[in-house]
Amino acid sequence: MSTTKWADIFAPVMGQGREVREGQAALGQAIIKAIETKTNLVAEAGTGTGKSFASLIPIIHQIQTSKKRNKPFRAIVSTETLILQRQLIDKDLPFLSTLYKDFTYRKLMGRSNYLCFEVAKGAVVADIYMNSIVEKLKMRQTNLGNGEKDDVERVLGRELTADQWAKIASSSSFCPDNQCTTEKCYSTLARERAKAADLVVVNHAILATDAEMKAGDPLADGMLGQFECLIVDEGHQLEPVLVNQWTKEFSERDLTTMAGSVQQGVEDAKSIVPNHSIGKTANDSMDELLALLKNVKNFYMLLGEKSNQEWKGSSTSLSLKTVRGAVTGPLLYAMNEFEEENPGRLARAEAALTEISDYLAKVTHKAAEEKIKGIRKIRKGWTASRDMLEIVQILSKAFATTDGIIQAYGTYGALVDGFEKQDGTPWMKIRLVPLDVSTKAKGIWGKEGGQTNVLLSATLTDLTDGTFRYARECVGFPAGPELRVNSPFDMQNQQLIYITPANRAKVEGAQYSFSELLDLILAARGRSLILFTSRKELDEATEQLQYMRNLGQFPYTLLVQTKDSDKQKLMEQFKADTHSVLLATKSFFVGIDVPGEALSFVGLAKWPNERYDALCKQQIAHWRTRGFSRWYERLSLTLFGQAAGRLIRSSDCKGVVGVLDFRANDAESNVFKTAKLGVTTLGSPITQDIATVKAFLS
Ligand code: SF4
Repeated sequence: MSTTKWADIFAPVMGQGREVREGQAALGQAIIKAIETKTNLVAEAGTGTGKSFASLIPIIHQIQTSKKRNKPFRAIVSTETLILQRQLIDKDLPFLSTLYKDFTYRKLMGRSNYLCFEVAKGAVVADIYMNSIVEKLKMRQTNLGNGEKDDVERVLGRELTADQWAKIASSSSFCPDNQCTTEKCYSTLARERAKAADLVVVNHAILATDAEMKAGDPLADGMLGQFECLIVDEGHQLEPVLVNQWTKEFSERDLTTMAGSVQQGVEDAKSIVPNHSIGKTANDSMDELLALLKNVKNFYMLLGEKSNQEWKGSSTSLSLKTVRGAVTGPLLYAMNEFEEENPGRLARAEAALTEISDYLAKVTHKAAEEKIKGIRKIRKGWTASRDMLEIVQILSKAFATTDGIIQAYGTYGALVDGFEKQDGTPWMKIRLVPLDVSTKAKGIWGKEGGQTNVLLSATLTDLTDGTFRYARECVGFPAGPELRVNSPFDMQNQQLIYITPANRAKVEGAQYSFSELLDLILAARGRSLILFTSRKELDEATEQLQYMRNLGQFPYTLLVQTKDSDKQKLMEQFKADTHSVLLATKSFFVGIDVPGEALSFVGLAKWPNERYDALCKQQIAHWRTRGFSRWYERLSLTLFGQAAGRLIRSSDCKGVVGVLDFRANDAESNVFKTAKLGVTTLGSPITQDIATVKAFLS
């Protein structure tokens, strides 16, 4: 039983003229109960419920109460994106801190979001422009605040491109273990300040790192310190972020970088604990792995050639291959090497890396005990040797399978991805992707009964079975109550769904009609967010719209997401120019909040199916074994729900969600049934007539 009433703790906010929302009160009360009883809650709350306040106010109340009782209570709120983090830190928490006193809050981001003068030393070499930037930053160091990109740009008085920022920002590959002093290191400073705060706003990637750092030791401090409550907002995005975070990649370049770190670490370590043979052992293990990578690339390229498959953009399971038809010439040679020599290479590399890793561990511990300074390269080499050892162990397992699915250290899919460099030279990356993060993710939820966990989102229900079963199981979420709170918006009158009648000429190679897209944008008088799942289709649509502008037939500002775009800034431009049109890709399916006039039409050029590639097949196969036979469909319904959810963000919003993919109108297509289920779930009227769209928006 919870003793605190939502209405009581919400009263200060109501005093500021905010309305009482039924759904928000239900969610707030459920979170109070979870906190007071140290239980876990899964809650789906539709758009407009007011999830942020429903989470933050109970946390703040508990912080205040605990302080009075002299009991510890720290809370972490995790969101998926930096935009959502900023919304909480720059808007919601400053507002709440004027009403509720005696609590501290901080934001913590991944280290690539903080300036690092050590990394910048490399940027200034032979780059006059970067040199001038770094010099200016050094001179105005006292004005750099938290050392975030915004701080740096404020000091410089100009924006930096993603590439320029990467040259001066911290990175885990440059600095695996934060060894500089706190005063010198913005990333360490941010962590220490976060650990001292009552409430920390992070993103899901930080949760993943914290769980890894605390693995096997629940009392370890990790990245976030100890805490009593964790709220994971945008909870449906936790699984993909964890998969991404825990994916291991391995290319010839990565190998060379890691090998360099290991070799340098070994060289430095010899001056502390002499070992005459270890240098040769390190070199031999690298030679084995380079030979292996060379063969894998050669074999898979020849295999692709045989089946007329393009190497560039290919993705194939790394496993024993049964080559169809007669195998002759170079492919036969490469296949024999692939199957016969590689297991031996891996075994020898594993033995060597075990020896190196043990040696570097011994030296690191000795150096720490004897307080020997300057061992950063040894530690870095030790980290690199452990990473390589784990990769080698997983690779060994992959070579023994026929489907690349490995049951070791969790469930991984092993894949070979083919690329081409700018000069046309082929290169390859081996990816080890966790197909199932549920076991490892359990570390996020702490010891049973020790921590309150809330998994929260507007889209947690698996629409293929109507339950939260997948949402819970995919991240190993602990047992506890469930809650569903509907959106307070009137979806019958605020939203209309347009499905293409598919009666116009399609864009070549795509699934939508450009003239239909243009008519819908004109019907919405700009004010459109058009979502693409392919960069190529987005570029082509951009070109066509620019052409129409030159002809005077497209009077609106066209905003386009590019590789270097700052999502937040693009959104601000879109909001400010209320008749602009924004073309974007998948990253804009979530975290976009444009209430009011500026967004009246959300168009999907293609039904958002995940790419049906080797990895996807492995994921489908794996989740079938866990009883989720409609995994692929579930994923696309979730993506569609997120994209459609960008439209109605307040009771003032009115607009149209357009499904422009011809297959949504084709009963023979495998998209048809899924799209029908997706649009029905939105609970709004459906039309196939642009005149109705125009009348609705007029
Ligand atoms: S510890 Fe040093 S190298 Fe690492 S991020 Fe901090 S300042 Fe940069």
